[in-house]
Amino acid sequence: MPLVIALLVVAVTLYVHLAVLGRSATSSVAGGVPISGGDVPSWLNGIPGTGGGARDTSAIWPPAPPDARAQPIGMPGASRSSSTDYVFMHTVTGVGGPPVAWDPCRPIHLLVNNAEAPPGADQLVREAVASVSSATGLKFVIEGITTEAPTERRAPLDRSRYGDRWSPVLVAWTDPSAVPDLQGRVAGLAGPSGAPYYTADQQHWVSGTVSLDGPQFREILQRPGGWASARAIVMHEFAHLVGLNHVPAPSQLMYEDNVGQTGFGPGDLEGLRQLGLGRCFTA
Ligand SMILES: [Zn+2]
Repeated sequence: MPLVIALLVVAVTLYVHLAVLGRSATSSVAGGVPISGGDVPSWLNGIPGTGGGARDTSAIWPPAPPDARAQPIGMPGASRSSSTDYVFMHTVTGVGGPPVAWDPCRPIHLLVNNAEAPPGADQLVREAVASVSSATGLKFVIEGITTEAPTERRAPLDRSRYGDRWSPVLVAWTDPSAVPDLQGRVAGLAGPSGAPYYTADQQHWVSGTVSLDGPQFREILQRPGGWASARAIVMHEFAHLVGLNHVPAPSQLMYEDNVGQTGFGPGDLEGLRQLGLGRCFTA
């Protein structure tokens, strides 16, 4: 078996805690986890007052989209496993708590930038998405293609571009000249973005990016077993997108290097199963 080594790293997640200090609207945007001080992203600058109270998110979250349901759209396909070889990006209440997850009552929308897409790129994405969807029960909708370029800190809410909804996930076939973090052996980079929140139980993922190094995938695809390796890397990145972090066990696909794994291991699947059981925020 060829030894494919592709270092995969996690993008910085945009994740802002709106700590409530007193009752005035202007003091509601303060503090940050993990962003702090003046590091609040610019898209938060225009947040209107909280109106109905300190925990009212109606002024800071867009309305539920038309395809949101009252119940989870799907259920995780994997059965419960005793494996503990998984790590979440964030947990709701600290170590050992339930993971911060996507809302399972609404589909995750994707837009694809094919600027550096290798041959078979669409099928790689479709197959990787199908495997993550099956493991989590989360549904994905590929809206189409975009020319939006990946950026280091992409706003989860961009009304000028996408209207009054969370930005669709940007899946970008790109290269290290556009995304410097893809330099060297790094084949992909992905992470979710969180909704701003007041209370711990409001935390959930609403957008994100998946950046894939097109030229490096072209090379991987030419090797023996290249398709399975390439697909595994895209699966790894989509598992980041739904909330899994790297795990120390080399037997799992969420190990930070790809050392020949072509599918999810029992720990990966258990983590993905739990990520499919998030809370619905659809009123
Ligand atoms: Zn990774």
